[in-house]
Amino acid sequence: MKNASTGRVPSGLQDRGEPVEDDPALRQRLILVARTTIERGLNVNKSGNVSARCVRGGTEGLLVTPTAIAYQDLTEEDLVFVSLQDGRCSGVRAPSSEWRIHLEILRARPEFGAIVHTHSPAATALSCHGLDLPAFHYMIAICGGPDVRCAPYATFGTQELSDNALAALADRKACLLRSHGCVACGADLTEALAIAQEVEHLSHIYLLARPLGEPLRLSEAQMDSVIGQFRTSYGQR
Ligand SMILES: [Zn+2]
Repeated sequence: MKNASTGRVPSGLQDRGEPVEDDPALRQRLILVARTTIERGLNVNKSGNVSARCVRGGTEGLLVTPTAIAYQDLTEEDLVFVSLQDGRCSGVRAPSSEWRIHLEILRARPEFGAIVHTHSPAATALSCHGLDLPAFHYMIAICGGPDVRCAPYATFGTQELSDNALAALADRKACLLRSHGCVACGADLTEALAIAQEVEHLSHIYLLARPLGEPLRLSEAQMDSVIGQFRTSYGQR
């Protein structure tokens, strides 16, 4: 898990936190975030995918990484624009096999501007047991609530998996996908990457703590206090 728990978002990833035009600068930021998931051990080879909400020629949609291309080889032209209205794709490549999850989350959750999907090791290990991340540590609240749910298993790329992910994300910024990985959302690419990294870090801590017995849980009141603090002072927009 190289750098999975330590890194700050590198300079150059900062963006505006609202729908932006599909332009070369946005495409470069998206590629940088995709490569950062590899550098931080959140993905390997071609696993995972990244998207950002944007507007292209007056049409609201999203840019998403293509299928079957290693992130280090990505160019701006390889990213695929998908219309939020009708799901039509524009680009020279086919979109990631998980394009449906990105499309339907961004349709349903207007507060999100970007999504980072990973197969990061600790989060995926929990998902392989169908385990939620419970309120064992106060930083769970950065994901928007007292836990991070694990969505039931479905085949990658299917409507069923998209439906399961959307349900598990209710009132949350992240969920696990059983026997698959993690979906992290944010107002922009910077936040989505940070959430993906935080889920991986917390999952790692949970895996370290569980062999000693089920970790203590914070109470509903304790988590509500942290969630309230985050909304006003830290990590929330
Ligand atoms: Zn995946």
